[in-house]
This record gives sequence, C-alpha cells and structure tokens, in this order.
Amino acid sequence: MNKFHEFDYYLKPMKIKKVLLVFLILILSNNLNFSQSLENKNILVVWGGWKGHQPKVFADNVIKWLISQNAKITESNNFEVYDNYDSLTKFDLIIQSVTLSDISNNQADNLVKAINNGVGIAGAHGGLADSYRTKTNYQFMIGGQFVAHPGGKVNFEVNMLNDPLTEGLNNFKIFTEQYYMHFDPNIEIIADTTFDNKFYSWIDGVVMPVAWKKKYGKGKVFYISIGHDPNEFIRYPDGWKLLTRGFVWACRN
Ligand SMILES: [Zn+2]
Repeated sequence: MNKFHEFDYYLKPMKIKKVLLVFLILILSNNLNFSQSLENKNILVVWGGWKGHQPKVFADNVIKWLISQNAKITESNNFEVYDNYDSLTKFDLIIQSVTLSDISNNQADNLVKAINNGVGIAGAHGGLADSYRTKTNYQFMIGGQFVAHPGGKVNFEVNMLNDPLTEGLNNFKIFTEQYYMHFDPNIEIIADTTFDNKFYSWIDGVVMPVAWKKKYGKGKVFYISIGHDPNEFIRYPDGWKLLTRGFVWACRN
C-alpha cells in the first residue's frame, strides 16, 4: 500500500516534467545524429579491385555528392593509404569500394585498428563485404561477407525496417544481385530481403539483411548489399538515400 502511495507521490507534476524532458532530449539527440552534416569532415574514398563492379563509377558518384556536402575528400585507388595507421586516424570516414583483391596483413591491421579507434567505414555490395577474403579481422569488423547471389541478377524486394536511417524511405523492387551473406548476429539490420525457391529450394523464405549498421570499438560501420552496378543508386533513389544516410551515420561525430 505504502509503496503505491510513494509511487503516486513521485509521479506528481515535477516528476512528469522531468520524464518528458528526458524524452525530449532523447528525441532531439537522435535527430541531431541523423541531421549531422559531412561539412568539413575528412573523408577517404578508396576504390579498386575487381573491375566488374566499376569501382571508379561508384567513387565518382559518391565524390560528386561529397563535394555537394562540402566534405574534405581524399581519393585513393591504391592501398598504400592503408600503410600508415597515424595518417588513417586523421579521417572521419572511409568509404571503400574494393571487391576481392588483397591487402597486406599490416594494411588490414591498420585499417581495423583505425576503425576501432573511431574512424567510420561505409560502403556497398562487394566493395565492402567481399574485399580481401583471407582477412578475417576485416570481416569481423564489417560484420558480414558475401557468399552467393543465387540466379545472378534477379528481381527482388528491399524491405525497409524501422530505424532512424530508413525514416520516410519506401520498400522498393530492384533488378540486381540478391546478396546471400554470412553475417555477424551482432549487426543491426535496417533493411532486408526474402529469398524464394527459384534457384535453391532450401533457401526458400530465408530473410537476409540488405543493409546494416554496427559498432566496432569506437568506430561505426554501415553496409548496404545492393550496387552490383553503381548506377543502381542513381536509378533507385531510396537506395541512394539509405547509402548516403549511412555515410553520415558512420562518420565520426
Ligand atoms: Zn556484383
């Protein structure tokens, strides 16, 4: 009985105001995170690897957008940029489009350590989640690895899940590779897709992430699996919006 009375007492107007204020601060800080700008942020765009994914086209599209955001851009089409840990930590965000290829153990260690210490990393398709297949520390950081795209290019639907990054975005149908991933249970999935039985009966109904965000130490990782042709992000505006919101989210505050 007494406890109920006490509870009643504490829920009097002062307490309610306090609770509302906390909620308001939470909502505002969420929105601030989301409306964060890339202005004057140091952004490294690294591209290379398998040419079939047209990494230069991806980089050009992204750089054009980064210029419009007044970001400070460094572009690199080789991996020497991963040679030096100290110079990597000067970046706020690394956007990478490198399918397959390989980097040295030292380069992988520097990259992973830089993310662990607060540099963000973001990218799409094989350019982020099918790079340097032998570097498991890199895969551990990214949170997933491409393993198959049943049927090659197919029609499928991208479903947006509830998250600040997908707010106002619509589910959309797309014709491209539907990536089948091995992924870390620790990722936050923000968009997904469902496989059917057309190519492999045993994956019928499997729900697979299309986009995720995750932490790695002090750094943030954003990934989206569409983008076999980088211009898909131009043709499917909800995909582009999600990608660019991911860049902003992953960037160091
Ligand atoms: Zn592809």
